[in-house]
Amino acid sequence: MSESGQDCLSHGYTKGEKKVMSGFSYKDIYMEDGRRVLEINVLPEKYCNFDCIFCPIGRSKNKVDTKMSFDEIDSSLIELGNRIESTKAELVFINSKGEALVNDKIGDIIDFIKDKGLPVRLLSNGYLLGRDEYMKIANKCDEVVGEIKIITEEGFQKVQRPIEGYTLAEYISNMVSFNKQYKGKFIFEITIIKGYNDDEESIEKIKNIIKAISPDKIIVARMEDEKFKKKLGINDERFEEISSTLLNI
Ligand code: SF4
Repeated sequence: MSESGQDCLSHGYTKGEKKVMSGFSYKDIYMEDGRRVLEINVLPEKYCNFDCIFCPIGRSKNKVDTKMSFDEIDSSLIELGNRIESTKAELVFINSKGEALVNDKIGDIIDFIKDKGLPVRLLSNGYLLGRDEYMKIANKCDEVVGEIKIITEEGFQKVQRPIEGYTLAEYISNMVSFNKQYKGKFIFEITIIKGYNDDEESIEKIKNIIKAISPDKIIVARMEDEKFKKKLGINDERFEEISSTLLNI
C-alpha cells in the first residue's frame, strides 16, 4: 500500500481514502522528498487485470484489460483542479483501485494534470505497459511504477490469477519493452513474499529481472497488510538482507 511519506508504492488504494462527490477519491496530501503529493484514485470500484489472493482491495469482480467508460468525468476533473489548487500539490500520484490504465479517460486525466504544470506518477501492475495504446498513455507521465511479486509461471497463475492467457514471461517482457523506450523515471517495486520469492534462487532470478528491466529506481517491499502479514510476511532480518542485495545490484 502507498502510505504517506513511505517509500512503498504497492498496488491498491484503501488506507486513508476520502470519498468525495465526484467519481475520483483522494488521500490527504503528504510530503515526500520535500514535495507535496496528492494521491488520487480514478476508478469507482476495483477494476484489475489480475485477481491477486492478497489484494488489499479484495476480489476482482471486474477482471478486465480493455478500456472502461465511467460517468462524471467533467465534474471529476473540476474537483481534481480544485484539489490541486487547495492542497498546493506539487506531484499527482495516480494510485487506483486496480489498474488505472483501464479508465478510458486516463489520458485526458494525465493531460489535465500536466496542463496545470504538475508532474504525474502513475502506478500500474505493469502488465499493460507493453501494449502500444497503454504505452503511449504511460509515456505522458513523468514517473511510472511497475511491480513484480510472484516470479514463477505457476505461482503467478495461482496466486495473482491474471486474465486467461497472461504469462509471467510476457509480464516481464512488457515492462522491459516499456522501459526501453520510456524517457521518464521508471520505478520498479518488488514485493518479497514468504514462501514464494524469499529464497536464494528467487533472489537470483529477481536480480536478472531487474537487470533486464533496468529501472531508474528500485523499491523492495514486503507484505504489510495485517490480513496477510502473518502468513506471507518475512522477518526484519531477512528483509534487510534481501533489500540490501537487490538495492545494490
Ligand atoms: S495487481 Fe493484484 S494487488 Fe494490485 S490491484 Fe490488481 S489484484 Fe489487487
